[in-house]
Parts: sequence; structure tokens; C-alpha cells
Amino acid sequence: MAITAINAQNLYQNQLRPVWVQYEQGNPVQLPANLTINPSLNIDGGAVPGFVETTQGALNLPNDSLVWFCIAHEMSHHVTQSVLAASNQAFPAVGLALNSKMGEHVADLIAFHTFMTDFPIRAKQIVSQFPALTNLLGAGDNMHPSGNQRVLFLQSYYDAVTRFGMANVTAFTRLIGITFQSPAAVVPHHEWVDKTSRSILHTRSRQLKDVDTRLETYITNPVPANRLLLRNSFDTWFQHNPKERKKRNKGFCVLRLFLFLHDW
Ligand SMILES: [Zn+2]
Repeated sequence: MAITAINAQNLYQNQLRPVWVQYEQGNPVQLPANLTINPSLNIDGGAVPGFVETTQGALNLPNDSLVWFCIAHEMSHHVTQSVLAASNQAFPAVGLALNSKMGEHVADLIAFHTFMTDFPIRAKQIVSQFPALTNLLGAGDNMHPSGNQRVLFLQSYYDAVTRFGMANVTAFTRLIGITFQSPAAVVPHHEWVDKTSRSILHTRSRQLKDVDTRLETYITNPVPANRLLLRNSFDTWFQHNPKERKKRNKGFCVLRLFLFLHDW
């Protein structure tokens, strides 16, 4: 069901903003008191310091959870900017396209993480909308990763938190730290094997063993061709082994390798 402009404003002012301001304590630029609603029927939004916007098109989405996610995503862009500005950091100078894509993943992650901590029922509803969200975000462009990449990334985060618990919040903080030091570093081979191991009863799938081998090869000889082979193996494993991906994502090692291979 679509959300009216008045309800969206209420949602922003009374439910979301009071939670998101926790990220802006002590920062000079705070989230604006009001959400700006652009009459455009495109599904879009934007945020610059002191300004958060969403379109009427986004409010018209058929599922409330997707509307919540759209607004929260833009608010998360805002808090990312103010947190970085407050600590005198900027995105690293590694090319605008890369920075923008990284910014999208970070905003998705902050939005989703905050739903997990403060609106857990809503977070579950968003998870159930992941296929719709994938379609909605589409193929991506120079500034935006594809819907598939963005949702797989959130899925992996969700898997880790549901499997290993919210103690992973510290890991989340570290993860966000990692994202600001792009390009992300490769996960060392020994760490990968260690973090992804389970008991002796749980054998590694053939596809996971492929990742192990290609990771070792890449680390020994870090040339682009080996990186591509590693990425192909990783993506194949990632997409076809959800259980393994979920149960072996200790310390977000799966997410970290994902970030590295997908050009953060
Ligand atoms: Zn965005």
C-alpha cells in the first residue's frame, strides 16, 4: 500500500529521525527537521547536508517496507556525510564511480542495520521484500551497483547477524570502517580458512574449496587475471550455497571478501 505524503512526513519525523540522529551526535550538520517530498513519480531520492528528499514515486511503492527502506536509505546517506565531515574524512580519492557505489552499499547497510536494531519486525518484512528490492534497484549504472549486488550484500549481513547474533554490532562498526578505507583489503588466506571453518563434521563444498584455492593463488600472485578467477569462483559459491555462506560468515569474512572482489 502506498504511503501518503502526510504519513511519510510523520514516519520521518516521529519514527525514523529520532533513531537516526543517534549517528549524528556532536556533528555540525544534523538531519533536517522535515523530509522533502519531490512530486516526481520516478522512484528516487537524495541527501546533501541539511536536506533529505524522497519522491512521490517512492512513496507510491506497493509495499510499505520498501517505502521505509527508501527513506531510511537517504537518511543514511545524510548521516554518512555528516559523520565523515565531522571527522574531517572524505571518501578516498579512488574515482567517483567507485566512491558512489561504495556510498550506496554503506547507505543500504546503515539503513538495514538500523532496522535490525530498532525496528526488527520491519527488518524481517524488508528481508521478505528482497526479491522485489532486487528488481526495483535494477541493473545499476556508473553510480549505483546492481540491485542483485546490493541485495546480496544485505542478505549476507543479515545471515551473519541472525547466525552469530547482534554481538556482531562491533563487527559491523569495523565493517563500516573498512568501507571507508577503500579499496577494501583482501582477506588473508589463513584467516579465510580459519573463519569459514566449522566442525570436522561439516565438510567444505567443492565450490568453497575452489574459492580457497583461487584465493591462495591470488594472494601468491595478485594479478588481475587471478583476481577475476577468484571473483568468479566466489560469486558461484556465494550464489549457490546460501547455507554455507550463512554459517561460515564469522567476523563477516564473507562480506569482506565480497567487498574486495566487488571493487569497494
Ligand atoms: Zn543512494
